[in-house]
Amino acid sequence: DNLLLHVENLKVYFPIKSGFFQKTTGYVKAVDDVSFQLARGETLGIVGESGCGKSTTGRAVMQLIKPTSGTVLFEGEELSGLGTEQLRAKRKNMQMVFQDPYSSLNPRMTVENILREPLEAHHAGSRAEQLKQITEVMELCGLNSKQLHRYAHEFSGGQRQRICIARALVLRPQIVVADEPVSALDVSIQSQIINLMTDLQKQLGVSFLFISHDLAVVKHISHRIGVMYLGRMAELAPAKALYEEPLHPYTQSLLSAIPRSHPRSGKERIVLRGEVPSPADPPKGCAFSTRCPHVMDRCREVLPLMTDMGAGRSVACHLYG
Ligand code: SF4
Ligand code: MG
Repeated sequence: DNLLLHVENLKVYFPIKSGFFQKTTGYVKAVDDVSFQLARGETLGIVGESGCGKSTTGRAVMQLIKPTSGTVLFEGEELSGLGTEQLRAKRKNMQMVFQDPYSSLNPRMTVENILREPLEAHHAGSRAEQLKQITEVMELCGLNSKQLHRYAHEFSGGQRQRICIARALVLRPQIVVADEPVSALDVSIQSQIINLMTDLQKQLGVSFLFISHDLAVVKHISHRIGVMYLGRMAELAPAKALYEEPLHPYTQSLLSAIPRSHPRSGKERIVLRGEVPSPADPPKGCAFSTRCPHVMDRCREVLPLMTDMGAGRSVACHLYG
């Protein structure tokens, strides 16, 4: 079975409380009815503007945030049904890399101790075996294992993110949720980290859920890409198809903003009207209706659902089907 992760109808709603008695007066639908699958050795890019629910989706998959409803099946097992201990054991197979390599590493810890922590937490091997795993994973991540005793603060941003990736991989997990892993890095370093992750995937067969606000960043690493808008999935497609023929008007606008080295067919940049609406008060019908250049009467009334377009593509838009 090649299916590793199966997320179905995932919802994460945060209550809005107000007044003296902190009564719940509504909900922010941070993640609303999101479904996707991730195969072994595959990278799924999750893209959208800040506040679209992509990070919350990643955290809910990891069970760091408890989903309001929906299922997260990891190797066919429902994670929300697991107790604390069982979940802790599962974490060995599911790790996270965060955006900021400065705040996510203790600067006064040595690389050795940073990488030993997860091994200790999961009682993996003797000290000597752990040391072997630590030096192995450092080399895999392009770090010099002779620098084992150096402190995190002695490393550059790019190297620190390599340490974070090594920490995520030291237990050889099956899935790594990477939330904006290159967004805090210089552009020249970004491609190095992307290339590293691509190589690691080839060598280890690990799957990535790669979260980014930038479609240009996920382009080369993702096999498939999901585009989110205001808590919902707008479009999900193989990466090549998404870049060559985006179906959803929101994806089209995001892509038109990426400068191309070879501009094809002179496509104009699509400038969206207005701001992203508040997730606490989303528009009725299609969430994108307040900004969509193709908006129709129906869009303001009826919520478009994800529709299968064949060839592994689906889109939530009334222009289709
Ligand atoms: Fe635009 Fe309507 Fe499609 Fe929404 S459903 S993206 S408003 S055309
Ligand atoms: Mg985020």
